[in-house]
Amino acid sequence: MAICYLGVGSNLGNRRKNIKLAVKKINGLKSTAVLKESRIIESAPVGGPAGQPDFLNAALKIETKLSPINLLKELKEIENDLGRVKSARFGPRIIDLDILLYGDRVMAGKKLTIPHLRLFLRDFVTLPLLEVL
Ligand code: AMP
Repeated sequence: MAICYLGVGSNLGNRRKNIKLAVKKINGLKSTAVLKESRIIESAPVGGPAGQPDFLNAALKIETKLSPINLLKELKEIENDLGRVKSARFGPRIIDLDILLYGDRVMAGKKLTIPHLRLFLRDFVTLPLLEVL
């Protein structure tokens, strides 16, 4: 069982509902449980196309038996289930799920970098994370 921290963000549609639904789906993953949820904070978009809506962001502490890559696959599936479509880098999205930390693992692969590359660059990631650590 590994303890992991996830970032959750949304800036399209019913943002709060999208986040709540994603949390529910994450809690429903095989051998996975959500242990703590941060408050949801609102922040202005960083990068990406001009004029996109503000984001809601949260962080989760979870435990899981899924490997990092399988966890990523499941998170991508949840993003797709919720209707996320490919858009510009840092562009608007119904839901964005990131693995921030996975136990004490450090890895830099083609598909997955842990800790998340932009973990310490953005308040909207670090502030919710601090609430659930
Ligand atoms: P995003 O636009 O945030 O959904 O991320 C795009 C891609 O980043 C994903 O398809 C992953 O392959 C890759 N990626 C690399 N490291 C991570 C990570 N720690 N958590 C989530 N995605 C990651």
